[in-house]
Amino acid sequence: MTIYTGPVFEMARDQFNVIADYLEIPADQRDRLLFPKRAIAVACPIHRSDGTLAVFHGYRVQHHLTLGPTKGGTRYSPTLDIGEVAALAIWMSWKCALAGLPYGGAKGGVRVDPYKLTRHELESVSRRYMQEMIPFVGPHTDVMAPDMGTNEQVMAWFMDTYSMYQGKTVTEIVTGKPVASGGTLGRREATGRGVAHLVDRAMERLGMAPVGATAIVQGFGNVGSVAAQSLAERGIKVIGVSDHTACYFDPKGLDVPGLIRHAADKGVLAGYSNQLAADPATLLLQRCDVLVPAATERVIGAEVAQKLQCRVLAEAANGPTTPDADAVLAERPEIFVIPDILCNAGGVVVSYFEWVQDLQQFFWDEPEVMSKLYHVLDRAFAQVLGRADRDRVPYRTAAMAIGVEKVRGAKQVRGLFP
Ligand code: NAD
Repeated sequence: MTIYTGPVFEMARDQFNVIADYLEIPADQRDRLLFPKRAIAVACPIHRSDGTLAVFHGYRVQHHLTLGPTKGGTRYSPTLDIGEVAALAIWMSWKCALAGLPYGGAKGGVRVDPYKLTRHELESVSRRYMQEMIPFVGPHTDVMAPDMGTNEQVMAWFMDTYSMYQGKTVTEIVTGKPVASGGTLGRREATGRGVAHLVDRAMERLGMAPVGATAIVQGFGNVGSVAAQSLAERGIKVIGVSDHTACYFDPKGLDVPGLIRHAADKGVLAGYSNQLAADPATLLLQRCDVLVPAATERVIGAEVAQKLQCRVLAEAANGPTTPDADAVLAERPEIFVIPDILCNAGGVVVSYFEWVQDLQQFFWDEPEVMSKLYHVLDRAFAQVLGRADRDRVPYRTAAMAIGVEKVRGAKQVRGLFP
C-alpha cells in the first residue's frame, strides 16, 4: 500500500524500473531509491473575494535528503494530487543529480485553478500555503521555486511570508523570485533559454542549421514563451504555438514577440488571431524540425509518438512522453529526443545559482549567469550522449541512469541509519 497513486506516479515508477533493470539494482534496494522521504498535506483556508470561505488542498513531497536540501517547484493546478507531486519530486532528484547540483528533488503545489482566482485570492492561497509549510521547509532543508501556475510574484509572497515569521528577510528560502527581492538575473528566462541551447547542440549533432528550420511549441507560459523567443532569435521559424485557451499555426512563421506581448497583456493566447487558429489536437503531429512540448505531462503517448514528424523532440515540460511512447521512439532513431531531465534543467541550475548568490549576498551579472548555465548544460549533454553511445541506450535511459547512479552512490557511502 502506498499513498502515491495515479498515472503520473505510475509513469515515474515505470521509468525508474527501466533504469533499475539497466543498472541491475537489486530488488531490495529499489524502494529506498524510489519512494519519497517525506510527504506533507495541508489544508489552506482563505476568504474569497465574494466573502465566502474556501479550502484548498496543498502538498509538498521531499524525495531524498542524501545530497543536501531538497529543491523543487510549486504547481497550482485544479487536478493536482499527491501522486503527481511525488512523480515530479522524483524526476527533480534525477535532474539535480545529472546536473551535479547538491540537492535532492522536491515538488509541491495546491489543487486550485489559478486562472479562476482573483489576484487577492491568489495572494491569500500562496501566503497560507507557505505559512502551513514553515515547519517543513528552510534554506538548508527544502527550497521552493515556481512551476506551472506560479510565477515570480508568487515566489515573492512565499519569501515575504516566511521572512515575516522569522523576523528577518530570508531571500534564500525560495528561488525564481523577482530580481528586486533577491532573485537572480536570468532565472525567469533560464529554462526556456536552456531548452533552445540544447536544441542548438542537438541540431549541431544532426548537421542541421537553425536558420530556416521550423519549430512548434506547445504551452506558452514561462518556459514555452521564452523557448519560442530563444528559438526565433536563432533564426528558427516558429510555425505553431498553443496554450490551454488557443492554438495558432502558420507555415510562414508566427510573430513570436507579438504573441508574447498578447499573452503578457491578456494572460493567455486566446484572442490573438482568428485567421491563424488551428486544431490543438493535431499540433504535435505537424511536420517540423523541432517540437517543444512545454505544457504538461503525458501529452505524447504511443499513438502520437508513432505519428510525430519532427527531427528533434525537446522535452521542455516534465514528463511529456509516456514509457509506451518511449518504446515507439526507440524504434524511430531519426528523432533526437532531448529528455526532460536534461532539456529543462536550466531552471533548476539557475535556481541553484540564485540560492548560492542569496546565501553569499554576492550577485552576478547576467552574462556570468548564462555562461555558467550553458557550461553545466553542455557538460550534462556530453555525459548523456557519451553514456548512450557507450551502452547503446536511448538518451532518456542514459540521462536517468546518470542521475540514479549518483543518488545511489551517495546513499551507499553514507550507509543506512541506524
Ligand atoms: P506556466 O504555468 O507558466 O505555463 C504553462 C503553459 O501550459 C500555459 O501557457 C498553459 O496555458 C499551457 N497549457 C496547460 N495545459 C495545456 C494543454 N493541455 N495544451 C496546451 N497548453 C497547455 O508553467 P511553466 O513554468 O512554463 O511550466 C511548463 C512546464 O515546464 C511544466 O511541465 C513544468 O513542470 C516544466 N518546467 C518548468 C520550469 C520552470 O522554471 N518554470 C522548469 C522546469 C520544468
